[in-house]
Amino acid sequence: MDIGVEEIREWHLEKGFADVGYHKVIRRNGDIEDGRPENIVGAHARPINSISLGVCLVGGVDDNKKPENNFTPKQFKSLEAILRLWKAKDPDAQIIGHKDVPGVKKACPSFNVKPWAKEKFNA
Ligand SMILES: [Zn+2]
Repeated sequence: MDIGVEEIREWHLEKGFADVGYHKVIRRNGDIEDGRPENIVGAHARPINSISLGVCLVGGVDDNKKPENNFTPKQFKSLEAILRLWKAKDPDAQIIGHKDVPGVKKACPSFNVKPWAKEKFNA
């Protein structure tokens, strides 16, 4: 779906969140949209919200809502750019996917973030 932070904010407000749960949203065309301010705790990965920043890539499921790594090259470029900024602010920060969060039984983001991050950031 070609959606962005506006639509996701609406869903999250309906869920009772104070604002969109993520700090950044990357649209299908690679555009980066601001979510919550980075000094506000997110609502994106329950046990680690207070010690992490959250970025959401739009997509990642097929027509049957099954997990699929269908993110666009522009989305991956934008993801890398965001994480470079965040890494500069906090060099020791780990880069992990939602599914890597302890206790989380989800497939997102439909690709293995750790090996990807290791290649890009050696981290
Ligand atoms: Zn997720």
